[in-house]
Amino acid sequence: MDNMKLAELLFPHIKITAEQYRNEVFPHRQLPEGAMVTRFAPSPTGFLHIGGVFTSLVNERCAHQSGGVFLLRIEDTDKKREHEGGISAIMSGLEGFGITFDEGELPGGEKGSYGPYTQSRRGLIYQAFCKELVEKGLAYPCFCTEEELDEIRKRQERDKALPGYHGEYAKCRNLSYEQIEENIKAGKSYVMRLRSPGKPGGRIKYKDVIKGQIEMDENIVDIVLLKSDGIPTYHFAHAVDDSLMGTTHVIRGDEWVPSVNIHLQLFHVLGMKPPKYAHVPPIMKEEDGSKRKLSKRKDPEAAVSYFSEEGYPKEGVIEYLLTLANSGYEDWRRANRELPYTDYKFRLDKMGQSGALFDLKKLHSVSSEVISRFTAQRVCDDAIAWAEKYDKELYSCLARDREYTAKIFAIDRGGKKPRKDIAKWSDIRGYCAYFFDELMHEGREELEMDAQLQKQVLGEYLKVYDPCDDKDTWFAKMKEICPRLGFAPEVKEFKAAEPGTYKGHVGDVSAVVRAAITGRKNTPDLHAIMNLLGSEKCINRMNKYIENL
Ligand code: GLU
Repeated sequence: MDNMKLAELLFPHIKITAEQYRNEVFPHRQLPEGAMVTRFAPSPTGFLHIGGVFTSLVNERCAHQSGGVFLLRIEDTDKKREHEGGISAIMSGLEGFGITFDEGELPGGEKGSYGPYTQSRRGLIYQAFCKELVEKGLAYPCFCTEEELDEIRKRQERDKALPGYHGEYAKCRNLSYEQIEENIKAGKSYVMRLRSPGKPGGRIKYKDVIKGQIEMDENIVDIVLLKSDGIPTYHFAHAVDDSLMGTTHVIRGDEWVPSVNIHLQLFHVLGMKPPKYAHVPPIMKEEDGSKRKLSKRKDPEAAVSYFSEEGYPKEGVIEYLLTLANSGYEDWRRANRELPYTDYKFRLDKMGQSGALFDLKKLHSVSSEVISRFTAQRVCDDAIAWAEKYDKELYSCLARDREYTAKIFAIDRGGKKPRKDIAKWSDIRGYCAYFFDELMHEGREELEMDAQLQKQVLGEYLKVYDPCDDKDTWFAKMKEICPRLGFAPEVKEFKAAEPGTYKGHVGDVSAVVRAAITGRKNTPDLHAIMNLLGSEKCINRMNKYIENL
């Protein structure tokens, strides 16, 4: 068979050769030693799974912390999976998490010299590489119809043979030039297949950066390279694109592990150096004592929209994902409270080999830790922006007087032990309800203390309350009224005394004042709250509370 002649018959329109693409159109990248080139390669389904954010974060960290390149490639070769606006939904989802790309078709236009970065616009490139394979006798056209392929499948089932187009089942493997030419003239549709050089019984080994040494059967299947419309399969596009784009590390979901034998074979036949592979395990969920993949259908938290609706700040989600990715992250964060997460040296080879469990409680705790480090102004701005979208009533309260709102969040912020009662912006409503009269009724808690006694406490307190008091004087006054009420001014004293000696202690006195003013049993610094509310409001609330007792 004259392979050159066949290549010309099949690809007469291909003028730029694979060799030119390799060396002239897409020259090798000049990067510093150790710089990693990684990519995120979504299909435009429009749905951004939290697992996709996880994988792209890992890719992004590896590229950027090594001084490399992170690129976005759109894998739109499967038109069935495509949704209109799918890409911009994915992009804005990732951007919302602060994950940014160096190359790709980005909002400001295409960036990078290795494009187009959308597979449907790279048709001629794949065809050029396929043409080269035909020239080398490593690819051939296959005219089998669906029915014939079905027939092969059935025969293989009967024979208990490996499924797929290979060996004696590969009917079109040895067609002559004349047969091929005749079929083409007759207008028969065909796909292009790899003539796999694999040997039955052969084994291959590779070292996965995350999963370690993996051994598997060598590929012997003549897989499809180009479909009948000339569009490549995932396998072929992956090999061509990741070679030309200079990807050093393919970091992707571990559902691709079983295909690595195909991919390594493709790099080999294309005469290109394979990248390193790192297969990321999926994020799991525990249900009824067993683990399963976090599911788009069953779990609301699988969709990134869940996190924006709940109001988790992007850093909260990202830092949570980092704790899933590297177990050392939390220790680092404890030791480096003030540094941005990007200062953490992420280790791909330290990722767990089996799927990490998604745990909302843990997310909550990481996110509240993150918010505790925010400035009051940042909390104020983000909470207002969230409320504007998701809680109109709260928005009208928070946005009315932004200075006042910022002061709410300044209470107990900073210092060595900041409070951690806000994990997400949807917690804000409960957190600050009592700062706004219209929300005051929310989250009210009843104090378990005799109503008469509470009245007495407030009666005495109102006599000494002076809005000008500093915190020490304010607290001294709480103590001052204790003896008159039959309460111990010191908790210690209360505890040391015979039961029945006191009705309570100074903490119980302030609890009544707190309940009257905030409707809560537990709040941040009550002195600061009273100052911010102002004396008129405080006195009114105490009087109203007395009336309602
Ligand atoms: N388009 C592939 C997917 O969505 C990407 C896999 C890869 O990263 O290579 O699964």
